[in-house]
Amino acid sequence: MSTFTIETGEDNPVLRAKAKPVARVDKSIKKLASNMIDAMKESDGMGLAAPQVGISKRIVIVLLNYNTDHEMIVPLINPEITYFSDDTGKAEEGCLSLPGIYKQVERSKQIRLTYTDTKGKEKMLVLEDMNARVVQHEIDHLDGILFIDRVEKQKAVEKETT
Ligand code: ZN
Repeated sequence: MSTFTIETGEDNPVLRAKAKPVARVDKSIKKLASNMIDAMKESDGMGLAAPQVGISKRIVIVLLNYNTDHEMIVPLINPEITYFSDDTGKAEEGCLSLPGIYKQVERSKQIRLTYTDTKGKEKMLVLEDMNARVVQHEIDHLDGILFIDRVEKQKAVEKETT
């Protein structure tokens, strides 16, 4: 059993806070990442951000290459997207913190990402499609943004342009 319960609700303060950067990748951070991986697996999620387990730190776990032979679970510490493609696509998203809600969300198809791994090493990744989407969704959590916010914004833009 995971030691965490998943925080839910669109007005939940921990889900709406801006998470704090991790100063040093020490034992407690490694332990947190490993517990988050367990919690994500138990919840059948494709990603999990620390605020979703009540911890306001800049750590996310993502499942990349979903449903392929190269499926992998990657912890990202202090992740930062350094490039968003102008090319965007829409796909349905859900969130462990907003059970039962599924909506089409528009996001960049390609991103470039820097992060620190659990050994404290700086890494860079170029991601596209589903992988890029999962990472954008999870990093939004670190800034207090939920996917439903993006849907509302898009609706407002669509209204203006019609
Ligand atoms: Zn989410």
